[in-house]
Amino acid sequence: MQRIERVELTTNFPIGPVNSYIVYGDKLTLIDAGLKNKQGWYELNNGLHRLGLNLSDLEQIVLTHHHNDHTGLVDWILEKNPSIKILAHKDTEFTLKDEGYLEWSSEFFYKLFLEFGLTKDMAAHWAFRKGHRDYFQTAKVDAVLKEGDFVPGLPSFQVIETLGHSQDHISLYSADKQQFICGDHIIKGVHAGMFLDAPKQGSERAKPLLQYLDSLEKCRKLSAKLTYSGHGPIIDNLNEAIDAHINNIEKRTGRVINTMKKAEGAVTGFEIIQDMYRGRYEKAVITFVFEILSVLDLLKEQNLVVGEKINGVDHYRLVNE
Ligand SMILES: [Zn+2]
Repeated sequence: MQRIERVELTTNFPIGPVNSYIVYGDKLTLIDAGLKNKQGWYELNNGLHRLGLNLSDLEQIVLTHHHNDHTGLVDWILEKNPSIKILAHKDTEFTLKDEGYLEWSSEFFYKLFLEFGLTKDMAAHWAFRKGHRDYFQTAKVDAVLKEGDFVPGLPSFQVIETLGHSQDHISLYSADKQQFICGDHIIKGVHAGMFLDAPKQGSERAKPLLQYLDSLEKCRKLSAKLTYSGHGPIIDNLNEAIDAHINNIEKRTGRVINTMKKAEGAVTGFEIIQDMYRGRYEKAVITFVFEILSVLDLLKEQNLVVGEKINGVDHYRLVNE
């Protein structure tokens, strides 16, 4: 077994703390780097000290994906240890740094939210937040990791692209040591969050839930004794966790179908949310938009639902209803 130590870092997200891992490979490696906040910063430093380490001992950081609870402290770490190298998917830096892309993200999501049926005010508010989020100030990615690569400095680990949760998500698997580092792809006891990223300009958006289901099947083939997740405990039965995620998705899909059955005629995505999550969706509408839109993608793919645009807004209805 490769020695891997977990350090929990505080976030202000409903999911609770995020995990960073210290992997004692050929290079001392930090996997993921928390949310940018003082408490998390303190906990990271403290966690290292408990292991007899300092930030200056770290030689590289591998990022599983760009979300700000996994990349937030990178800039601060670099300030203390400028020689540390950052390894990530090819799109991680682009997503976190390209100003043109961030602007375009706002535009893309404004249009998507209107098509989903949100009011103009809501669409503008949430689109702005999508385009103006945390990003890398000084950090940049030094080495790109792609499917099948052996990770420099962690030679027994290979990269597995696990798209779905985000469009730049990677996991690391050691067949040798039967250890699997899976970021937010698989989290024990929590339903799989789907997030949409704006595509690059001129491309179609991804369908995250379809990707996600493929990524889950890909992982079913691994023989991992221990799976190190981005949140929550270390998982000792990977396939059980995969089945739980699939079950959850089936339940969610069933609830969307039931909601659509109750409606008379075609409904918008936002109407589905208002019915399913009445009184709970307002604070985090965007989370529910991504969740329901990705389920609708899946139902369309399965030919259970058809969509049509009415006055610029997508309306969905069940086939054979
Ligand atoms: Zn994430």
